[in-house]
Amino acid sequence: NIYGDRQNSLGRDYSQAADRDRHAQALERVDSEKLTAGPIIGGKLRAGVNPQDVTNPYDRSRVLGHVSEASAEDVDAAVNAAAEAQVAWDRLGGAGRAPVLRAMADALEAELDRLVALLSREAGKTLNDGVAEVREAADFCRYYALLAERDFGGRQILKGPTGETNELVLHGRGVFAAISPWNFPLAIFTGQIAAALAAGNAVVAKPAEQTPLIAAEAVRLYHKAGLNPDLLALVPGRGETVGVALTNHPGIDGVAFTGGTDTANAINRGLAARPGAIIPFIAETGGLNGMFVDTTALKEQVIDDVIMSAFGSAGQRCSALRVLYAPKDSADALIEGLKGALAAQVLGDPTDPKTDIGPVIDAESRANLDAHVERLSREAKIIARAELPAGSEKGDLFAPTIAEIPTPDFLEREVFGPILHVYRYDPKDLETVAGKLAARGFGLTLGVHSRIDAFAREVMELVPAGNVYVNRSIIGAVVGVQPFGGEGLSGTGPKAGGPNSLIRYAAEKAISINI
Ligand code: NAP
Repeated sequence: NIYGDRQNSLGRDYSQAADRDRHAQALERVDSEKLTAGPIIGGKLRAGVNPQDVTNPYDRSRVLGHVSEASAEDVDAAVNAAAEAQVAWDRLGGAGRAPVLRAMADALEAELDRLVALLSREAGKTLNDGVAEVREAADFCRYYALLAERDFGGRQILKGPTGETNELVLHGRGVFAAISPWNFPLAIFTGQIAAALAAGNAVVAKPAEQTPLIAAEAVRLYHKAGLNPDLLALVPGRGETVGVALTNHPGIDGVAFTGGTDTANAINRGLAARPGAIIPFIAETGGLNGMFVDTTALKEQVIDDVIMSAFGSAGQRCSALRVLYAPKDSADALIEGLKGALAAQVLGDPTDPKTDIGPVIDAESRANLDAHVERLSREAKIIARAELPAGSEKGDLFAPTIAEIPTPDFLEREVFGPILHVYRYDPKDLETVAGKLAARGFGLTLGVHSRIDAFAREVMELVPAGNVYVNRSIIGAVVGVQPFGGEGLSGTGPKAGGPNSLIRYAAEKAISINI
């Protein structure tokens, strides 16, 4: 029973002094630890190559710890150890594997305050975002443990006219490469690994360059939770070196990737060129996410949901709102409301419980967003920009921006940060306007605000999307309840946190026995 007594993880309330105190102590601990990340193979930290400081996006002078990159030899050793350990792990069956995943979920919750502090320091997450991320990571582990028990071990008997006993069983494919982004450096990192492990695979994981420390902590927690260390290795480093070495390694039997659409295409091309192998590729990628509002929508609710969807997590969610389609008759009122709501957002140090919007991930990202704002000021109309607080130049805070765009398909691709585009549309032109968004080929999240069911249904039919949200924000899918993932240029599926999540991590075997 995967829906019955399953419970999602619980959080923190930073309006309470006790939770704020716990956070302050955890932050002090993280700041004093000076963490180290590097290749972790067989549970041992290796020296690696190219040692570097890991710094804080809010204040680049703050050094959090150090990372060294995995060499080609490290990648090779990691894959070989994983391959050797995988066979016995697969034979354990889902019931044998589930306890380790549950122990990992418990370990994540036990370390919640420290992990939130680290997410905040390393990835610039606000505290509430950090808590949500640790909970999501724990939820993935528990949910995939249930799926492992449900699908891996028993035999599905397929009755039919052949006179034989026909069975269908699932088993792991071998060694999975798990490649993850910096924007959910714990939840996605942990979730990909949990899915691959649950299905009976071993994993070699490459975290994003920007967030190796939290990844190393997650790997250590998996090992502490009782996972044979050979089944999970960490190979930090750059995509173009370590990522390529990993996905090209002949011992890899599958790749789970979350990140940009262009990167997914590059990896896919590499896999296709590998001689003598057909490698399953699971990709969760970017989106060009719209929200359509009609004149029946409740203005205050729209404003709240738009601010959260576009500027929450500094707009650095794949699900974040990029284009608001406002009906021409209520667009002025909506825009006025959005300006006021944006001005009320608190920008600043993400470790401060009062902060709503923290920094973007790095200087490169900030420069890309600056260049986009330049384009908007030339080709569109900037409506509002939040004010940066004093001292913002020490890190990568970026002023959230709202702009009105002249055409419904002004954006060709995802702009990954706190910039909201508004397009005024005539409801008579809904089909054309929605069609232009659809023609871009993405299909991740979609929002609708309306009291009229037929309007919501029409928008859903016109714009492809893996996750549709009506009269609410378009971010924050909950594991086991709102399976997450896109279609078209936004991903291959299967959705994360849904009942079919493990299927592509597994191979199916049909057995026909003539007795
Ligand atoms: P990214 O640049 O595509 O990087 C993702 C990962 O791929 C990183 O670990 C990266 O390494 C690695 N990589 C880069 N080139 C590679 C190559 N040639 N071979 C193997 N690995 C390679 O994405 P990002 O900037 O980290 O993350 C933001 C993107 O992720 C956005 O587009 C967002 O929409 C998407 N995203 C999608 C979902 C979803 O569920 N659909 C969820 C979260 C994020 P480096 O560390 O060197 O970059």
